[in-house]
Amino acid sequence: MKLFKLIVLLGLFGLASCAKDSYRKINKQHKKQVKEVLGAIQATPITKAQVNPDSLSISDAWIGTTNFSIRRPNYVIIHHTAQDSLAQTIKTFTLPRTQVSSHYVIGRDGEVVQMLNDYLRSWHAGRGRWGNDTDLNSASIGIELDNNGFEPFSDKQIESLLLVLKRLKSSYSIPTANFIGHSDIAPGRKVDPNPYFPWKKLAQSGFGLWYDESLELPNGQSIEEVPENFNPIDALRIIGYDISDEKAAIQSFKIHFIQEDIDSSLSRRDSLILFNLYKKYR
Ligand SMILES: [Zn+2]
Repeated sequence: MKLFKLIVLLGLFGLASCAKDSYRKINKQHKKQVKEVLGAIQATPITKAQVNPDSLSISDAWIGTTNFSIRRPNYVIIHHTAQDSLAQTIKTFTLPRTQVSSHYVIGRDGEVVQMLNDYLRSWHAGRGRWGNDTDLNSASIGIELDNNGFEPFSDKQIESLLLVLKRLKSSYSIPTANFIGHSDIAPGRKVDPNPYFPWKKLAQSGFGLWYDESLELPNGQSIEEVPENFNPIDALRIIGYDISDEKAAIQSFKIHFIQEDIDSSLSRRDSLILFNLYKKYR
């Protein structure tokens, strides 16, 4: 029995040190890259002596100021990993060839792994647009939820997410409307987080907006009507959606706010919800 225990212990120790070794290399490389980023921040602005005088009218000497601080994230973008385990996602994010990462990964059991300092630019958003912002990686924090893409999110995972969001919102004064999903910023290209994601619960906690559910009466009538001249595509654009592909924009809106069906058409009820939401965003 004792021998068995010893073998198990040795085995566990071996696994732990092996995991440590495999991350040591990537952590070392990470620190090296952080130093390069620091170098970019520490560089003194150029003066006339350093540039071609014909190309830029610039002062002879550098004049500094002490009135500054570091730039802050202003959006949070939520994803599902479309993978089967936290370990699989972490492996993906530690392989240089994948060129993808996120600041936080949250497991099904609620474990939070922070891989990047909030001030660094993670590669999670890819090509995307929200309003006029086309570089969401520079402006946002990326959070990946371990989920295969077709399953509900566990209570523990959402509880952890809410704690992370609370910290981020207060640290960086992120506006309530700026908690959005990957599908919101990349219509037709991304569908995460999947329609099981509890956006309504998040909005009730102050992260993201939701429509007034009281606008629908039990008899199928509603307390407000969509005006005849209401243009749903303009409304989607004002909310932030990239409307270059109108059908894809409608589908992204439905993944987030309708969730029961996510096709690319707007029913009377969908239009009512869109109209109600658009008034909150405009
Ligand atoms: Zn994503």
